[in-house]
Amino acid sequence: MAKGKHLALIAHDRKKDALSMWVKAHEAALTGHTISCTATTGGVIEKNSPGLKVVKTKSGPLGGDQQIGALIAEGEIDLLVFFTDPLSPHPHDVDVKALTRLATVYDIPMACSKATADLIIASGFLD
Ligand code: PGA
Repeated sequence: MAKGKHLALIAHDRKKDALSMWVKAHEAALTGHTISCTATTGGVIEKNSPGLKVVKTKSGPLGGDQQIGALIAEGEIDLLVFFTDPLSPHPHDVDVKALTRLATVYDIPMACSKATADLIIASGFLD
């Protein structure tokens, strides 16, 4: 049954396992919401949580982060969970900055780490 929120879930490569584990831990809370992911992140989530329905954009470095940003600008996204890797360089850093900037411009909740993502779940925001 659709619960009505549209979530964007993304993780940098070295954070994909952490995001996938977070999704698994909160699968019941996430089920029924619309979930959009960049391509590689979405593939990992689909593999580990096959019960969730995931819509995939292009891969982040190939424009997927900008596609998610466009959804935010259109008012389509209610929550951005982006597990970023602050210890590695990324060729698409400017896209990541643009995406997180838009989440701030449009004032949507954004979690860049497990601790904050846990707090958002605990807040009842998805209920
Ligand atoms: P990916 O993109 O899910 O396609 O790896 C995420 C990113 O690094 O922006």
